[in-house]
Amino acid sequence: AKKHNTQKYAYFDDTLEQKMAWRLGMAQQLRADFKAQKLQLWFQPQIDLQTTKVVGCEGLLRWPTENGNMISPDIFIPIAEHSGLIIEIGDWVIEQACREIKQLENLGITKIKISVNVSIAQFRDPTFSKKLVHTIESFNVNPELIELEITESILMNNPNAVINVLNQLKAHGIQIALDDFGTGFSSLSYLNKLPLSRMKIDRSFVQDMDSGNGKTIVQTILSLGQKLTLKTIAEGVETETQAQYLTELGCDIIQGYLYSKPLPPEDFKLFIEQSLK
Ligand code: C2E
Ligand code: CA
Ligand code: CA
Ligand code: CA
Repeated sequence: AKKHNTQKYAYFDDTLEQKMAWRLGMAQQLRADFKAQKLQLWFQPQIDLQTTKVVGCEGLLRWPTENGNMISPDIFIPIAEHSGLIIEIGDWVIEQACREIKQLENLGITKIKISVNVSIAQFRDPTFSKKLVHTIESFNVNPELIELEITESILMNNPNAVINVLNQLKAHGIQIALDDFGTGFSSLSYLNKLPLSRMKIDRSFVQDMDSGNGKTIVQTILSLGQKLTLKTIAEGVETETQAQYLTELGCDIIQGYLYSKPLPPEDFKLFIEQSLK
């Protein structure tokens, strides 16, 4: 039995080593490609259910490989977080969002919000809010057009420090959305303390809407959001039925493949120009 165990551990060590080597390789490649400006920020439209017009978008990172495929952010974001690179990448994401807002302005489109995802590691960076405000000012962008998407996990340790930073940003006009609502720790006790303007219902709830109690759960989340006077956004909307349900339940905004996948900046501009016609 002892020998067996040793073998098992040896095997485990090997894969762990392999895993670490893979991670390290990926982190080095990511750093190199980021420096070589190969990362892209794509935009997924958000549609107002009342007017059926685009009112905003979510910025989503894309990492193209040599052969033209994309590495999923679900794979490389954790690597960027682990290696610390997410700080620089996150700064760049905010710059890209500001750049896009300016480019839209040049096309006469002035009211499209851009939401960006922020990692907990960015909040731990003591210069985060200062850099953010500075970037927005230097691009001369209306801060109300920039929204940070935070998840409940951000409150895991030191919630008061995070709430402080968020309050400062809010005071500058920057908007805050609670992302993936309902999937993380129950942060109901923090809902009151966070300076939120919007609540995003996670895709998993939207996808379950046509089975069992799925619709009731979405209804309950929406009414919580509405009572807290937050705008509600449903993400991952793929079917007309889902959009129909969400309209009936009074959801404000939807985002999902039904309207559009995330688009490269050029296609996004075309999409908006079409939508606003
Ligand atoms: P998320 O913030 O929950 O983003 C929504 C994800 O759902 C995106 O995946 C989007 O492409 C996908 N999606 C949108 N509509 C639909 C739909 O109708 N059906 C389905 N099946 N999926 C849909 P994506 O782009 O792969 O991003 C994955 C995650 O990576 C994001 O989840 C976010 O947590 C993270 N991420 C992406 N960009 C950034 C970034 O700039 N910074 C940070 N920190 N995280 C990012
Ligand atoms: Ca998000
Ligand atoms: Ca989300
Ligand atoms: Ca999600």
